[in-house]
Amino acid sequence: MPPVQSDLVVRASRAVIGGQEVAASISVRDGRIVAIDFVDAGVPDAALVVELDPDEVLLPGLVDTHVHVNEPGRTEWEGFASATRAAAAGGITTIVDMPLNSIPPTVDVAALEIKRKVAAEKSVVNVGFWGGAVPGNVDQLRPLHDAGVFGFKCFLLASGVDEFPPLTLPELEKALIEIASFDGLMIVHAENAEVIAEAPPAAGREYSGFLESRPRAAENRAIEQVIALSRQTGCRVHILHLSSADALPMIAAAKRDGVRVTVETCPHYLCFAAEAVPAGATQFKCCPPIREAGNREALWQGLLDGTIDTIVTDHSPCTPDLKRFDTGDFGDAWGGIASLQVSLAAVWTEARARGFTLTDIVRWMATNTADQVGMTDRGRIEIGSAADLVVFAPDEKFTVDVAQLYHRNPVTAYDRLGLSGVVRRSWIAGSESSTGRLLLRY
Ligand SMILES: [Zn+2]
Repeated sequence: MPPVQSDLVVRASRAVIGGQEVAASISVRDGRIVAIDFVDAGVPDAALVVELDPDEVLLPGLVDTHVHVNEPGRTEWEGFASATRAAAAGGITTIVDMPLNSIPPTVDVAALEIKRKVAAEKSVVNVGFWGGAVPGNVDQLRPLHDAGVFGFKCFLLASGVDEFPPLTLPELEKALIEIASFDGLMIVHAENAEVIAEAPPAAGREYSGFLESRPRAAENRAIEQVIALSRQTGCRVHILHLSSADALPMIAAAKRDGVRVTVETCPHYLCFAAEAVPAGATQFKCCPPIREAGNREALWQGLLDGTIDTIVTDHSPCTPDLKRFDTGDFGDAWGGIASLQVSLAAVWTEARARGFTLTDIVRWMATNTADQVGMTDRGRIEIGSAADLVVFAPDEKFTVDVAQLYHRNPVTAYDRLGLSGVVRRSWIAGSESSTGRLLLRY
């Protein structure tokens, strides 16, 4: 019997597969990878054969589990059409949308349905959803879980938007007990409200003032509390956007003890340093804040030794007026950095300068992010996996021009930065014209 013809075969002299860079020929049928052969095994029988250029590397599509799309309700900040187009252009083929900044926030099934409907109409990459844990919605967590959210996000201090209030510690404990009952996942914005209340308030154009208003101690204290409650309840927890490298030993110790905790950091904490943020440059404002160069290098060390599991964007855009460029006041400006389209190139540029390879990038930004949310057939090139593939030219250089990005608003901390690495094409489910699909928790 002749072998079944594939829909697509991609032949690459360099492909990141199984934690290595190898030459390979990837066969795709019905949206899945069905064979991986040596590239010199002969041209296979396929409807379409794509031969990559020698300067190109085939990567699995990245999975970004921390994206604020903001639609509906704040679509002028970002929406599914612009966000997913930017993601695709940046090599990200799957995003998981955060439950806040949209209106309504995703704190019950009715709100989730509203989001799913909007996303289905407009998205060009795969989209999953986080639910939200807010005061008074503990009884909504299981229905949201059953409806397919990948887990729940909560804050321990004011989130920045009134409709998504933070949990107190007793409320967090209650939510963790509930989430543990169905072996769900809680993801936490870990900054402690009391520590921040005691710090000087953010005001003025100097970045140092903003940094002092969000001290490392606030993160360290909150992470300590989250780990203690995870230990006590057995609930799986994930620390969002780690900025304070001081917390790494504590997280590593908890992991060694078997506490079910994972941790992410973001491109801006790995690329920038507080000392270099110009006065009034509020495009660099985010919470927790970008810290000193020494802290940045300690985060890279945390990635090297495996204490930090993932790198995700925390893409959190807003309209330019909310960044208050008129005054440059860090106290008044919205906190959030837009980076969806440039995160791969930004992280790769900094990673390669420190001796890391594309296999590291794939582990942090694709495989581990997928695994963290249970998407075990994404974020890797493997037989049976989704054929979400990206062609990356790691040596091609470019300068970020914010006006050229697909982000809805032309504001990003990466503007005018020279980066290495260009995404030349991508496939979702083996198709270059696929619009992606909505994903439910597996
Ligand atoms: Zn966020």
